[in-house]
Amino acid sequence: MSCDSDAGDAGPMAKLPVPEHVQDAIRTLISWAGDDPSREGLLDTPARVARAWKEYCQGYQDDPAIHLARQFEEVGGYDEVVLLKDIPFQSHCEHHMAPITGKAAIAYMPRDKVVGISKLARVLHGYAQRLQIQERLTAEVAQCIWDNLQPHGVAVVIEAQHGCMTGRGVKTPGVGMVTSRLIGCFLDDHRSRKEVLSLMGY
Ligand SMILES: [Zn+2]
Repeated sequence: MSCDSDAGDAGPMAKLPVPEHVQDAIRTLISWAGDDPSREGLLDTPARVARAWKEYCQGYQDDPAIHLARQFEEVGGYDEVVLLKDIPFQSHCEHHMAPITGKAAIAYMPRDKVVGISKLARVLHGYAQRLQIQERLTAEVAQCIWDNLQPHGVAVVIEAQHGCMTGRGVKTPGVGMVTSRLIGCFLDDHRSRKEVLSLMGY
């Protein structure tokens, strides 16, 4: 057994009932792909696929802004860049439902409020665990931080590979796409922009 085929029996989705019409849809897709959904190895696949997709798309359950609700106003006079980088994430493209895998760097320049650093990653995952395009994912993460923390600036840079490019179509493994969204001082002020991008390694 080459993949984690039992994972669906142990994770948070283990007991999630999968309606018959959802399983039928996946059987139809298996047939369409050219295999026989009634052969032994594929019998439990429709339920597993359905639960896996609930997990890939968990971001629809919450507004990612909830992760920024707990804010700390005591910043001790700190008014420099806060940066979390090399945050790994997985998403799925809305055009092919193929995996997008990559890493993100998220920075903001606090005005008077900060959040726990792991919350930035939670916002990223909240938007990544939906059907996405990389450009919108980048913009949504930046906008959410901008709206909820009212910082001086926000910068988000995402570097990712797209399964729909590496595994099909032009088949170009290794090709990464980089998107960025800069708001506030990181957009308007040349020095701030240079500083944050160099901290991020760009
Ligand atoms: Zn795609």
